[in-house]
Amino acid sequence: MKRRTLIKAIPLSLLAAAGGVSIWRDHAISKTAISLSEDNSYDQHINLNDLLGEDLFIKDNLEKPEQKIAKTTEIIIKDDEFKRLKSVVAHLQRVQNQVGYANFNLLGFDEMIRIGRNFSSVGSFTRAELDFFEYIFTADAKAYGFFGDKVIDNISSVIPEREIKKIARTGHYLFKGQSIEKYNRVRKDVGNSLVLTSGIRSVVKQTYLFLSKAIETDGNLSMASYSLAPPGHSYHGIGDFDVGKVGYGHKNFTADFSHTDEYKRLTDLGYVAIRYVNGNPFGVRFEPWHIKVV
Ligand SMILES: [Zn+2]
Repeated sequence: MKRRTLIKAIPLSLLAAAGGVSIWRDHAISKTAISLSEDNSYDQHINLNDLLGEDLFIKDNLEKPEQKIAKTTEIIIKDDEFKRLKSVVAHLQRVQNQVGYANFNLLGFDEMIRIGRNFSSVGSFTRAELDFFEYIFTADAKAYGFFGDKVIDNISSVIPEREIKKIARTGHYLFKGQSIEKYNRVRKDVGNSLVLTSGIRSVVKQTYLFLSKAIETDGNLSMASYSLAPPGHSYHGIGDFDVGKVGYGHKNFTADFSHTDEYKRLTDLGYVAIRYVNGNPFGVRFEPWHIKVV
Protein backbone atom coordinates (compact mmCIF):
# COMPACT_ATOMS: atom_id res chain seq x y z
CA MET A 1 0.00 0.00 0.00
CA LYS A 2 1.34 3.42 -0.92
CA ARG A 3 1.89 5.89 1.85
CA ARG A 4 -0.59 8.35 0.41
CA THR A 5 -3.30 5.71 0.25
CA LEU A 6 -2.66 4.71 3.80
CA ILE A 7 -2.88 8.24 5.13
CA LYS A 8 -6.22 8.57 3.42
CA ALA A 9 -7.40 5.43 5.13
CA ILE A 10 -6.85 6.84 8.60
CA PRO A 11 -9.92 8.57 10.01
CA LEU A 12 -9.41 12.24 10.71
CA SER A 13 -10.41 11.68 14.30
CA LEU A 14 -7.56 9.24 14.67
CA LEU A 15 -5.00 11.60 13.25
CA ALA A 16 -6.34 14.50 15.24
CA ALA A 17 -6.35 12.59 18.48
CA ALA A 18 -2.98 11.03 17.91
CA GLY A 19 -0.73 13.91 17.06
CA GLY A 20 2.19 11.56 17.52
CA VAL A 21 1.16 9.02 14.93
CA SER A 22 3.70 8.66 12.19
CA ILE A 23 4.39 6.18 9.49
CA TRP A 24 7.70 4.44 9.16
CA ARG A 25 8.95 1.82 6.84
CA ASP A 26 10.87 -1.25 7.96
CA HIS A 27 10.77 -0.28 11.56
CA ALA A 28 12.92 -2.53 13.69
CA ILE A 29 10.78 -4.17 16.30
CA SER A 30 12.04 -3.89 19.81
CA LYS A 31 12.17 -7.06 21.82
CA THR A 32 11.79 -5.07 25.01
CA ALA A 33 9.15 -6.77 27.02
CA ILE A 34 6.78 -5.20 29.43
CA SER A 35 6.34 -6.93 32.70
CA LEU A 36 2.71 -7.45 33.45
CA SER A 37 2.00 -7.21 37.12
CA GLU A 38 1.55 -10.53 38.76
CA ASP A 39 -2.03 -11.31 39.34
CA ASN A 40 -2.85 -12.35 42.84
CA SER A 41 -6.52 -12.81 42.36
CA TYR A 42 -6.54 -16.47 41.50
CA ASP A 43 -7.92 -19.01 43.84
CA GLN A 44 -5.20 -20.48 45.98
CA HIS A 45 -5.67 -24.00 44.65
CA ILE A 46 -4.85 -23.02 41.09
CA ASN A 47 -1.29 -23.60 40.02
CA LEU A 48 -0.19 -20.45 38.20
CA ASN A 49 1.88 -22.55 35.83
CA ASP A 50 -1.27 -24.23 34.67
CA LEU A 51 -2.93 -20.92 33.95
CA LEU A 52 -2.07 -20.46 30.37
CA GLY A 53 -3.90 -17.23 29.70
CA GLU A 54 -2.59 -15.43 26.66
CA ASP A 55 -1.98 -12.25 28.59
CA LEU A 56 0.32 -13.95 31.04
CA PHE A 57 2.62 -14.69 28.18
CA ILE A 58 2.08 -11.61 26.12
CA LYS A 59 5.70 -10.62 26.49
CA ASP A 60 6.83 -13.84 24.83
CA ASN A 61 4.43 -13.55 22.02
CA LEU A 62 6.46 -12.03 19.21
CA GLU A 63 7.11 -14.39 16.39
CA LYS A 64 10.41 -14.51 14.59
CA PRO A 65 10.70 -11.82 11.91
CA GLU A 66 10.66 -14.31 9.04
CA GLN A 67 7.28 -15.52 10.22
CA LYS A 68 5.86 -12.04 9.99
CA ILE A 69 3.23 -11.19 7.50
CA ALA A 70 4.74 -8.49 5.34
CA LYS A 71 3.09 -5.20 6.15
CA THR A 72 4.39 -2.68 3.72
CA THR A 73 3.55 0.35 5.80
CA GLU A 74 3.39 0.57 9.53
CA ILE A 75 1.72 2.95 11.92
CA ILE A 76 3.53 3.87 15.08
CA ILE A 77 2.26 5.75 18.09
CA LYS A 78 4.96 8.08 19.32
CA ASP A 79 5.93 10.69 21.86
CA ASP A 80 3.10 12.07 24.00
CA GLU A 81 0.60 9.63 22.59
CA PHE A 82 2.89 6.74 23.43
CA LYS A 83 3.12 8.05 27.00
CA ARG A 84 -0.66 8.17 27.07
CA LEU A 85 -0.82 4.62 25.77
CA LYS A 86 1.44 3.50 28.60
CA SER A 87 -0.58 5.37 31.19
CA VAL A 88 -3.79 3.70 29.95
CA VAL A 89 -2.17 0.27 30.22
CA ALA A 90 -0.88 1.01 33.73
CA HIS A 91 -4.32 2.24 34.69
CA LEU A 92 -5.94 -0.91 33.30
CA GLN A 93 -3.48 -2.99 35.30
CA ARG A 94 -4.65 -1.28 38.45
CA VAL A 95 -8.25 -2.01 37.47
CA GLN A 96 -7.37 -5.65 36.95
CA ASN A 97 -5.62 -5.83 40.30
CA GLN A 98 -8.74 -4.41 41.89
CA VAL A 99 -11.38 -6.60 40.25
CA GLY A 100 -9.30 -9.77 39.80
CA TYR A 101 -8.07 -11.57 36.73
CA ALA A 102 -11.24 -13.52 35.95
CA ASN A 103 -13.60 -10.58 36.41
CA PHE A 104 -11.38 -8.38 34.33
CA ASN A 105 -11.99 -10.67 31.36
CA LEU A 106 -15.62 -9.57 31.44
CA LEU A 107 -15.32 -5.95 32.50
CA GLY A 108 -17.24 -3.38 30.45
CA PHE A 109 -16.06 0.13 29.60
CA ASP A 110 -18.59 1.94 31.78
CA GLU A 111 -17.87 -0.35 34.68
CA MET A 112 -14.16 0.31 34.22
CA ILE A 113 -14.78 4.04 34.61
CA ARG A 114 -16.86 3.42 37.71
CA ILE A 115 -14.16 1.23 39.27
CA GLY A 116 -11.64 3.99 38.69
CA ARG A 117 -13.89 6.52 40.36
CA ASN A 118 -14.75 4.33 43.34
CA PHE A 119 -11.37 2.91 44.29
CA SER A 120 -8.50 5.15 45.25
CA SER A 121 -6.10 2.28 44.52
CA VAL A 122 -7.20 2.59 40.88
CA GLY A 123 -7.96 6.29 40.48
CA SER A 124 -10.29 8.02 38.03
CA PHE A 125 -9.53 7.78 34.34
CA THR A 126 -8.65 11.16 32.91
CA ARG A 127 -10.49 12.63 29.93
CA ALA A 128 -7.31 12.22 27.89
CA GLU A 129 -7.03 8.54 28.80
CA LEU A 130 -10.64 7.89 27.91
CA ASP A 131 -10.24 9.76 24.63
CA PHE A 132 -7.23 7.63 23.80
CA PHE A 133 -9.12 4.46 24.69
CA GLU A 134 -11.97 5.56 22.45
CA TYR A 135 -9.76 6.51 19.56
CA ILE A 136 -8.07 3.12 19.63
CA PHE A 137 -11.51 1.49 19.64
CA THR A 138 -12.87 3.61 16.79
CA ALA A 139 -9.73 3.77 14.63
CA ASP A 140 -9.86 2.03 11.27
CA ALA A 141 -7.74 -1.06 11.94
CA LYS A 142 -7.27 -1.63 8.22
CA ALA A 143 -5.17 1.52 8.20
CA TYR A 144 -2.52 -0.27 10.21
CA GLY A 145 -2.82 -3.60 8.48
CA PHE A 146 -5.46 -5.58 10.35
CA PHE A 147 -8.09 -6.80 7.91
CA GLY A 148 -10.42 -8.79 10.14
CA ASP A 149 -14.03 -7.77 10.72
CA LYS A 150 -15.17 -5.49 13.46
CA VAL A 151 -17.45 -7.72 15.52
CA ILE A 152 -18.30 -5.35 18.37
CA ASP A 153 -19.34 -1.82 17.46
CA ASN A 154 -20.30 -0.42 20.83
CA ILE A 155 -17.50 0.49 23.18
CA SER A 156 -19.93 0.16 26.10
CA SER A 157 -21.18 -3.30 25.20
CA VAL A 158 -21.60 -5.57 28.19
CA ILE A 159 -21.39 -9.34 28.54
CA PRO A 160 -24.63 -10.58 30.12
CA GLU A 161 -23.92 -12.73 33.15
CA ARG A 162 -26.76 -15.11 32.38
CA GLU A 163 -25.19 -16.02 29.04
CA ILE A 164 -21.82 -17.12 30.37
CA LYS A 165 -20.24 -19.75 32.56
CA LYS A 166 -16.97 -19.74 34.45
CA ILE A 167 -14.67 -22.61 33.52
CA ALA A 168 -13.20 -23.99 36.72
CA ARG A 169 -9.49 -23.57 37.39
CA THR A 170 -8.83 -21.49 34.29
CA GLY A 171 -9.69 -17.92 35.27
CA HIS A 172 -11.80 -17.75 32.10
CA TYR A 173 -15.41 -17.78 30.97
CA LEU A 174 -17.23 -19.17 27.96
CA PHE A 175 -20.58 -18.33 26.44
CA LYS A 176 -23.28 -20.88 27.11
CA GLY A 177 -24.46 -22.72 24.02
CA GLN A 178 -22.14 -23.50 21.16
CA SER A 179 -18.90 -22.21 22.79
CA ILE A 180 -19.21 -24.32 25.89
CA GLU A 181 -20.57 -27.29 23.97
CA LYS A 182 -17.60 -27.21 21.61
CA TYR A 183 -15.14 -26.86 24.49
CA ASN A 184 -16.62 -29.79 26.38
CA ARG A 185 -16.75 -31.95 23.28
CA VAL A 186 -13.15 -31.17 22.37
CA ARG A 187 -11.95 -31.93 25.87
CA LYS A 188 -13.84 -35.18 25.95
CA ASP A 189 -12.35 -36.25 22.62
CA VAL A 190 -8.79 -34.96 23.06
CA GLY A 191 -8.45 -35.38 26.80
CA ASN A 192 -7.85 -33.27 29.87
CA SER A 193 -4.33 -32.36 28.78
CA LEU A 194 -6.08 -29.82 26.57
CA VAL A 195 -7.35 -26.82 28.48
CA LEU A 196 -8.95 -23.43 27.96
CA THR A 197 -6.28 -20.72 27.87
CA SER A 198 -8.44 -17.74 26.97
CA GLY A 199 -12.19 -17.44 26.72
CA ILE A 200 -14.48 -14.44 26.66
CA ARG A 201 -12.67 -11.12 26.48
CA SER A 202 -14.50 -7.84 26.90
CA VAL A 203 -13.63 -4.68 24.99
CA VAL A 204 -11.70 -3.52 28.05
CA LYS A 205 -9.70 -6.73 28.32
CA GLN A 206 -8.96 -6.78 24.59
CA THR A 207 -7.84 -3.15 24.74
CA TYR A 208 -5.55 -3.98 27.62
CA LEU A 209 -3.98 -6.88 25.70
CA PHE A 210 -3.70 -4.94 22.45
CA LEU A 211 -2.15 -1.87 24.06
CA SER A 212 0.19 -4.00 26.16
CA LYS A 213 1.36 -5.57 22.94
CA ALA A 214 1.71 -2.09 21.43
CA ILE A 215 4.07 -1.13 24.27
CA GLU A 216 6.10 -4.19 23.48
CA THR A 217 6.33 -3.14 19.84
CA ASP A 218 7.32 0.44 20.77
CA GLY A 219 3.97 1.81 19.70
CA ASN A 220 3.85 -0.04 16.40
CA LEU A 221 0.14 -0.79 15.96
CA SER A 222 0.75 -2.76 12.78
CA MET A 223 3.00 -5.20 14.57
CA ALA A 224 0.74 -5.34 17.60
CA SER A 225 -2.22 -6.27 15.43
CA TYR A 226 -0.23 -9.13 13.95
CA SER A 227 -0.40 -10.86 17.35
CA LEU A 228 -3.57 -9.48 18.87
CA ALA A 229 -6.79 -8.30 17.30
CA PRO A 230 -7.51 -4.64 18.00
CA PRO A 231 -10.40 -4.02 20.42
CA GLY A 232 -13.77 -4.64 18.81
CA HIS A 233 -12.16 -7.04 16.31
CA SER A 234 -11.61 -10.03 18.55
CA TYR A 235 -13.86 -13.04 18.18
CA HIS A 236 -13.13 -13.73 21.83
CA GLY A 237 -15.79 -11.11 22.44
CA ILE A 238 -18.48 -13.17 20.77
CA GLY A 239 -17.64 -16.85 21.19
CA ASP A 240 -14.21 -18.03 20.02
CA PHE A 241 -11.73 -19.37 22.53
CA ASP A 242 -8.12 -20.55 22.84
CA VAL A 243 -6.89 -23.92 23.99
CA GLY A 244 -3.47 -25.15 24.98
CA LYS A 245 -1.62 -28.13 26.33
CA VAL A 246 -1.35 -28.29 30.11
CA GLY A 247 2.18 -27.46 31.22
CA TYR A 248 3.23 -26.09 27.81
CA GLY A 249 3.40 -22.51 29.07
CA HIS A 250 3.98 -19.70 26.62
CA LYS A 251 4.61 -22.17 23.79
CA ASN A 252 0.87 -22.62 23.64
CA PHE A 253 0.82 -19.23 21.95
CA THR A 254 3.49 -20.00 19.39
CA ALA A 255 3.53 -22.15 16.28
CA ASP A 256 5.07 -24.86 18.51
CA PHE A 257 1.58 -25.72 19.67
CA SER A 258 0.90 -27.07 16.19
CA HIS A 259 3.52 -29.77 16.83
CA THR A 260 1.86 -31.16 19.93
CA ASP A 261 -0.19 -34.35 20.06
CA GLU A 262 -3.04 -32.28 21.42
CA TYR A 263 -3.10 -30.14 18.30
CA LYS A 264 -2.87 -33.18 16.03
CA ARG A 265 -5.79 -34.83 17.81
CA LEU A 266 -7.68 -31.57 17.68
CA THR A 267 -7.38 -31.25 13.93
CA ASP A 268 -8.10 -34.97 13.40
CA LEU A 269 -11.49 -34.52 15.01
CA GLY A 270 -12.82 -33.03 11.82
CA TYR A 271 -15.19 -30.61 13.50
CA VAL A 272 -12.70 -28.04 14.79
CA ALA A 273 -11.80 -25.02 12.71
CA ILE A 274 -8.87 -22.73 13.41
CA ARG A 275 -9.70 -19.03 13.04
CA TYR A 276 -6.32 -17.79 11.82
CA VAL A 277 -4.73 -20.36 9.58
CA ASN A 278 -1.26 -20.04 8.10
CA GLY A 279 -1.18 -17.28 5.49
CA ASN A 280 -4.62 -15.95 6.37
CA PRO A 281 -5.71 -12.74 4.66
CA PHE A 282 -6.48 -10.87 7.89
CA GLY A 283 -2.95 -9.72 8.75
CA VAL A 284 -2.80 -12.11 11.68
CA ARG A 285 -0.13 -14.69 12.38
CA PHE A 286 -0.87 -18.42 12.38
CA GLU A 287 -2.81 -19.19 15.57
CA PRO A 288 -3.23 -22.97 15.84
CA TRP A 289 -4.63 -22.54 19.37
CA HIS A 290 -7.56 -20.31 18.45
CA ILE A 291 -10.79 -22.24 17.93
CA LYS A 292 -13.37 -20.71 15.65
CA VAL A 293 -16.87 -20.96 17.06
CA VAL A 294 -18.95 -18.18 15.56
ZN1 LIG B 1 -7.50 -16.42 20.53
